[in-house]
Amino acid sequence: MVIAPPGQPVSQVGNVAGISQEAWATIVAAGGGPRTKIGPFDRVHVFWLAGMSCDGCSIAVLGATTPSVESLLTGSLPAIPLVFLHHTAVQLEAGAAYMEPMWRAWRGELGDPYVIVYEGSLADESLAAGSGGYWSAVGEEEVDGRLRQVPSAEWVRRLAPGAAAVIAIGTCATWGGIPAAFGNVTGSMGMMDFLGKDYRSALGLPVVNIPGCSPVGDNFTETVAAVLLFLQGVGPLPEFDELGRPAWLFGETVHRNCTRAGYYEEGTFAEAYGDKECLVEIGCWGPVVNCNITSRGAINHVGGCMNVGGVCIGCTMPGFPDRFAPFYKKPPGSTFSATGAKLTGLFIRPLRRVSERDRDRTARWDRAGEVPSGWGAPPRPTFVDRLIHVGYDWIRHSGTAAKDR
Ligand code: SF4
Ligand code: SF4
Repeated sequence: MVIAPPGQPVSQVGNVAGISQEAWATIVAAGGGPRTKIGPFDRVHVFWLAGMSCDGCSIAVLGATTPSVESLLTGSLPAIPLVFLHHTAVQLEAGAAYMEPMWRAWRGELGDPYVIVYEGSLADESLAAGSGGYWSAVGEEEVDGRLRQVPSAEWVRRLAPGAAAVIAIGTCATWGGIPAAFGNVTGSMGMMDFLGKDYRSALGLPVVNIPGCSPVGDNFTETVAAVLLFLQGVGPLPEFDELGRPAWLFGETVHRNCTRAGYYEEGTFAEAYGDKECLVEIGCWGPVVNCNITSRGAINHVGGCMNVGGVCIGCTMPGFPDRFAPFYKKPPGSTFSATGAKLTGLFIRPLRRVSERDRDRTARWDRAGEVPSGWGAPPRPTFVDRLIHVGYDWIRHSGTAAKDR
């Protein structure tokens, strides 16, 4: 179905399949609104462009499993259109054959909807053009009888207005990342800075951001699948936060789901890499960083920074890297919270060990006075342990039928 132009009142948008009225209100109030039609479509083209990039995002995405790139490219996911990926590293075509779909998309002759995925930051090409060069480019065109390379950022200017969605992948493309760090001579920036806050895709969407250096590949493929379901008209507009991040993926700090958070809470901290405890005193910024890698894993639900011993350096955050450097020093704010945890831990830890020793036994072993294990002799509850648990168990059973036994 053909949809309303940007800015049209919600009441006039009509029966837009799969989009909640609330989502529409947000889009339209922001001056957006789709200028193309919602599916269903048989196929969608994805133009993967690379700017100031190390290609780590491509590697991360190729390792994604839920869903995998293969399942997107073979159309094996229900209700999701076949994805035609145009990517310089995985494409069989080269030269003019590779570039042809991009030229057709620019001329409006593609015949299918397309999505732009951008990896790496966008450099200020006017700086390079001054000396006749370019920072990053793909394809070439003839101008005044001479061939020139077309900067990747220029392709964004050409293709973004007609794209169903623009997805920035990785911290360079989302916020600027390492190429935009202190001392940046390239004028590098993220996609939102490049396109501006008024940008809306042909479907009415602002820039979608999947940060991380490199990002979790599954975060990307899952978001793409959700956006494609929206494009097909069979799914709602996914929820994004105020910075265009998928809200269900970046709504929690990495600390809240960290496998070491229990050590932090008990006030025990690693002193060196390789220690098993919380890493905050050797430089971890997890308590203030929005990232899901500890719960999702890096690849195939395995790995992830603190899971494998690394500190969080805030790589998903707009302030990365400058506001987290130097990476080997502990965050100053952790002095207060870690000291507080150490103080409460002085009391909490011994009390928990008492309960742990008590719960590590059966009633039969208590009656027998020994543990029939050939592996060793577990510590026996001390007199003080037992005394504590007389009171503890009385409280535990108070108000229950078990108290009367
Ligand atoms: S290692 Fe980092 S994220 Fe994990 S509990 Fe410690 S401070 Fe939090
Ligand atoms: S835990 Fe920190 S360093 Fe690791 S991926 Fe997440 S934000 Fe980046």
